[in-house]
Amino acid sequence: MSTKKHAEIAGAGFSGIASAIALTQRGWSVRVHEASPHLRAFGAGIFIWDNGLHVLDALGAYQDVLNGAFAAPAYETRTNGECTSYQAINSPGNLRLLTMTRQHLYQSMLSAAQRLGIEFVTSSEAVGASPEGELWLADGSRLKADLVIGADGVKSKVRDALDIPMERERYRDGLTRVLTPRLSLKGGKWDNVIDFWSIRPERTLRILYTPSGEDVLYMAMMAALDDGEASSIPVRPAVWVEAFPELRPVLEAIGDTGRYDVYEKTVLQRWSSGKVAIVGDSAHAMPPTLAQGAGCAITNALGLAVALEEAGSLEEGLQLWERRERPLTDHTQGRASALAASRDLSAGMDWDDIGLKAARHIPTGTSATFSL
Ligand SMILES: Cc1cc2nc3c(=O)[nH]c(=O)nc-3n(C[C@H](O)[C@H](O)[C@H](O)COP(=O)(O)OP(=O)(O)OC[C@H]3O[C@@H](n4cnc5c(N)ncnc54)[C@H](O)[C@@H]3O)c2cc1C
Repeated sequence: MSTKKHAEIAGAGFSGIASAIALTQRGWSVRVHEASPHLRAFGAGIFIWDNGLHVLDALGAYQDVLNGAFAAPAYETRTNGECTSYQAINSPGNLRLLTMTRQHLYQSMLSAAQRLGIEFVTSSEAVGASPEGELWLADGSRLKADLVIGADGVKSKVRDALDIPMERERYRDGLTRVLTPRLSLKGGKWDNVIDFWSIRPERTLRILYTPSGEDVLYMAMMAALDDGEASSIPVRPAVWVEAFPELRPVLEAIGDTGRYDVYEKTVLQRWSSGKVAIVGDSAHAMPPTLAQGAGCAITNALGLAVALEEAGSLEEGLQLWERRERPLTDHTQGRASALAASRDLSAGMDWDDIGLKAARHIPTGTSATFSL
């Protein structure tokens, strides 16, 4: 009889795939349930800082991520046309920050999982779970496991079935995320990540201009939820060209793609209940002001598998996991939320900021000597 421990995982997003790989690497059998009919990423582009790159290396996905990601030479902020901060990145002695399409990151992680033979079941929606270690599916089945993982995102049904006390907050701003061709915006300053702000009495707008591949540009376009014109989909280029005339060609290339998501935060009183662990956005969604949501999600997914390997029992492992990983996640989430509420990033990114503590952290289960 097999003595392998078994995990049922709800959600094949970044945290579900990372959990599945990290557990499989430590001898578990796992099965991942994805509600959508296809395995693919949602959204446009993504930033992955040093900490996330360390985790991707430990998960066996880093080389694939590197091939096709973009390493900008600098990160600058420009507010009302003035440079308010400028920092070299991705060079010796500086922080590493890769930008890429979400689909590229997703496919790299999925390939690493598939190389390990991990089972994915699509169109398999979780509707809840019990602390006794049962995952409930929409088709009525109840799957027993040594560990159930709720990695089913910000609207997690697994989490909600457990009645863990939770705090939720929404903010005044949100982002429309789009991908366009880079067109003429290439070379020199146009290879930098540029955080453009336009602050005027009538409205504040921001475009996080992000080269994400040789010919792909990701733009995260911030507007207040109550600014109907600037938060509407499809994007109205005229509203944005008026604030950021330099970006006219790419703004006019957006077409009817894109989606607007308001900033939100979820804080759980605890990250587990009985034999169920809650991982990623389902446990700690945060505003994207520090671009650390997925970084923290995959860090904590790996940290969970490591803690379970170290501890003598599941209960001890879950406690060790939360004790070890949670302080940095809480800290990062708190700082990301403060920046979302204050819009202080318009004054420039502070590269000594406490908010970059996560980016500088060497995650549990990764190699401090891993050379990026
Ligand atoms: C505007 C914006 C920009 C961001 N930018 C960055 C960034 O640059 N860098 C960064 O690190 N983070 C960023 N984030 C955060 C990042 O997107 C999330 O932290 C990350 O996607 C969380 O991954 P996850 O796997 O926990 O959840 P998700 O990505 O939401 O994945 C959940 C998965 O579960 C599936 N699912 C949902 N419900 C069920 C169910 N009931 N049963 C089965 N499957 C289900 C979904 O289809 C999905 O595949 C950003 C977020 C936003 C909103």
